[in-house]
Amino acid sequence: MRVAVIGAGPAGAHLAYLLGKEGAEVLLFDARDAWEKPCGGGVTTKAMREFPFLAASDAPKQMVSSLRLTTGAGRSLRLRPRGDFAVYSRAALGRSMRQRAVDAGARLHSTRVGKTRYGNSGWEIETAAGIYTADFLVGADGASSVIRRRMGVHFGLNDFSYALGWHVKPRENGYETRNPHEPAAGHGQVDIKYLPDFTGYLWAFPRTDHLSYGIATKYRETTPADLKARLLDFIALSDSLTAEEIRTADHHTTRRAAFYGAMIPALETATWDGLKVAGRSWALIGDAAGFVDPLTGEGIYYAIKSAELLADALKTDIEEYDDRWRAEFGAELRRASQLQQRFYRSQFAGAPLVERMVQFARWHGGVRRTLRDLIAGEQGYVDLKGTLKRRIWAVV
Ligand SMILES: Cc1cc2nc3c(=O)[nH]c(=O)nc-3n(C[C@H](O)[C@H](O)[C@H](O)COP(=O)(O)OP(=O)(O)OC[C@H]3O[C@@H](n4cnc5c(N)ncnc54)[C@H](O)[C@@H]3O)c2cc1C
Repeated sequence: MRVAVIGAGPAGAHLAYLLGKEGAEVLLFDARDAWEKPCGGGVTTKAMREFPFLAASDAPKQMVSSLRLTTGAGRSLRLRPRGDFAVYSRAALGRSMRQRAVDAGARLHSTRVGKTRYGNSGWEIETAAGIYTADFLVGADGASSVIRRRMGVHFGLNDFSYALGWHVKPRENGYETRNPHEPAAGHGQVDIKYLPDFTGYLWAFPRTDHLSYGIATKYRETTPADLKARLLDFIALSDSLTAEEIRTADHHTTRRAAFYGAMIPALETATWDGLKVAGRSWALIGDAAGFVDPLTGEGIYYAIKSAELLADALKTDIEEYDDRWRAEFGAELRRASQLQQRFYRSQFAGAPLVERMVQFARWHGGVRRTLRDLIAGEQGYVDLKGTLKRRIWAVV
C-alpha cells in the first residue's frame, strides 16, 4: 500500500517512521524544512516514558528541574517533576524525527500539498513539484489542516485557542534574573503564570539555546494587543531589559526576540462527541484531528500517540482507528474540555479556583503531588476528583 502523509511534524514524521519500518511505501510531504514551529516544546514525563526514542534522539533538550506556578494574587508553588520532563527546540526535534522516518524508508518531499482528489485509481496529490498518487491519505498538516476541511471534518472558532509569544536568545552575559537566590531563567525552570478572569496561562520554557515565552487563551477571548501587553508584563518580571527591548522595537521583533502567533486546537465537548477522523481511504492525526489537551495545550504526546494508533489500525482494520483513539485518550481530552471553564474561570471559597488550588497545594502534600502529576501527564482528568479525595483523606 502506498500512503501519502501530508505534514512532517511529530505526528506525520512518526507515522512515516512506523509505516516505513513495516515496509509500506510512504510519501511524506512538508511545505517547510524542519522549523521552529510556534510551540513551548515541553514534552511531559508521560510522553518521555512512553516514547523512549525522544530521550534517545540526537535533538538537544533542556531537562526541567522545577516547575513554578504563580497565581494572579502572586502566590507561587514550586514542583519538582518525578521523572524526565524535557523542553525541545522544535526545529531540532523536527529534524531528528524526519531523519528517522527517512532512515526507515519514507520518501520526504519538501513541497506544499495543494489540491487532493480521490478517483478510481486512488488519491491524486497536487504539489508544486508535480502530481503524486497514493492509496491512502493521512492529514498530519497541523491545526489549520487543509486535509481536515477536504474530508468535511468541521471545527468552529470556539474549537481553538490562540497563542502568541517570543523565542528569546540570551544576551552575551546570559539572562537577567530578578532574585539571585532563584535558579536563573534558562536553567531548567519552567514558569507558569495564571491570571484572574483569563482562560489560559503564560509561560517561560527554557530551551538549550533560548527561552520560549508565550501566552494562550480561548480564541477571541481578548485581542492580540492585550495578550502582547500581558506577556510583556510577565517577561518584565524576570527580564526587564528584554521586555523593554521588545516594547520599543518595530513590530515587536528584535535581533534576539522572534515573535510568533498561532492557533491551537481546543475542542469543545460537543465537538469531541461528534468527532470522526477516518474513512476507508483517509485519516487525520495530531493537531489536524484536534488531538490537543484543551486545558494545557499539550499536543506533542497526542500527535505521536495518534500516529501509533493509526499505524496499528492500518495493519488490521482502519475502521478501528476512531474507536482506538477514543478509548486511549478521547475521554480524557473530552473531560479536559469540560473542565476548561471551571478550572480557569470558576470561584471557590471567594477566590478563583486556580488561586485556591495553589494555596491548598502549598500546605497539603497530597494535593501538591496530584498537581505535579497532572502537569507531568501522569494524572488523568477523568479520575482527578477520585485521586484528590483519596489523597486529601489519606493525610488528614
Ligand atoms: C504556542 C504553542 C505552544 C505549544 N506548546 C506546547 C508544548 O509545550 N507541549 C506540547 O506538547 N504541545 C504544545 N503545543 C502543541 C504542539 O505544538 C502541537 O500539538 C504539535 O506540534 C502537533 O504536531 P502535528 O505533527 O500534529 O502538527 P505540526 O507540528 O503543526 O506539523 C504540521 C506540519 O504540516 C505541515 N503542513 C501544513 N500544511 C501543509 C501542506 N499543505 N503541505 C505540506 N505540509 C503542510 C507544516 O509545515 C508542519 O510542519 C503548542 C502549540 C502552540 C501553538
